[in-house]
Amino acid sequence: LTVLGLESSCDETAASVLRRYADGRVEILSNIVASQDEEHRPFGGVVPEIAARAHMRKIEPILAKAVKSSGVSWDDLDGIAATAGPGLIGGVITGLMSAKGLAMALNKPLIAVNHLEGHALSPRLTEDCAFPYLLLLVSGGHSQLLSVTGLGEYERLGSTVDDAAGEAFDKTAKVMGLGFPGGPKVQSWAERGNPKAIKFPRPMKGRDHADFSFAGLKTAVARAWDASDKTDTAKADIAASFQRAMTDTMLDRVGRAITLYRNATGDTGRARLVVAGGVAANTELRAGLKTMAATRNFDFIAPPLKFCGDNAAMIALAGAERLAAGITDGYDAPARPRWPLDKDAAANAPKSG
Ligand code: ATP
Ligand code: MG
Ligand code: FE
Repeated sequence: LTVLGLESSCDETAASVLRRYADGRVEILSNIVASQDEEHRPFGGVVPEIAARAHMRKIEPILAKAVKSSGVSWDDLDGIAATAGPGLIGGVITGLMSAKGLAMALNKPLIAVNHLEGHALSPRLTEDCAFPYLLLLVSGGHSQLLSVTGLGEYERLGSTVDDAAGEAFDKTAKVMGLGFPGGPKVQSWAERGNPKAIKFPRPMKGRDHADFSFAGLKTAVARAWDASDKTDTAKADIAASFQRAMTDTMLDRVGRAITLYRNATGDTGRARLVVAGGVAANTELRAGLKTMAATRNFDFIAPPLKFCGDNAAMIALAGAERLAAGITDGYDAPARPRWPLDKDAAANAPKSG
């Protein structure tokens, strides 16, 4: 199956053409990502109104470029997939409407994809990552531990009670004026700092559930920065200590989720631990997860860096997997600002657009 995917839920406008074979093998024929970092940088964060207008301006040329550079013709496409939520509603509507227009004009099926399902399946773009697996999904808007047992089958083992992990990185960068987007900036400053310089809290550490909390850490960073002499050394030390606290906290929660996952599946054999989402690009987190996986008899799978952050290849893949399973959506599929991935929560999700 050959599927065109569109992504526009936050601040990247992206399109990708992907081919998925019956045996699950995937070929990415094109993958275009236009980041809006330049547009949002002056504001130190994503401005929804600016994002919506930028998506409108960029979506057509980007999708035309993705199809052209893939070498397939419009007629060769078996389906059109687009992010239908969750995310900033202006952008979601722009991408979804473009996909609907194309699908109608070409008379092809539409697949309305949950952005989080895109992240959840992203390791399958490049690796033979069979179901089931334990997933740490850490992004700009979400932090969850999920048991993934099949396409569309997600059970939540834990989630954040306040901020998302990526949000904590972004706010830490903003407090110290490191620049936008924050995650990569914090990581590069951390490389020059001492991770033991400041004792930051490890929220939720040792608790017997698998939930996260990052709000207290954010406050602690602001306090440490206020109390510091604001030199480059202080920046590096706070960044390194913060990143270590984030990693420690996430590893502790993953450790707990591994136990819950083992108990739920009753499986004690070799299993798979997967990380996805923008924060999955973090070097220290990847290294920590790899070590933890090895000690707990898990294979560790992380997508290449370019598929951690938002991209349309993961949306095209989710679309192709759904299409292969016979799941498509009507041309009236709604855009959803909020759309939880796990089934119990999804039944109660609000709709709009
Ligand atoms: P969501 O997927 O929850 O809707 P989003 O799409 O905005 O949110 P992503 O694009 O998946 O989020 O991830 C972006 C987040 O990843 C940002 O918060 C960014 O700071 C963070 N991030 C990117 N690279 C790194 C890194 N190397 N270390 C830590 N965080 C990072
Ligand atoms: Mg972005
Ligand atoms: Fe995302």
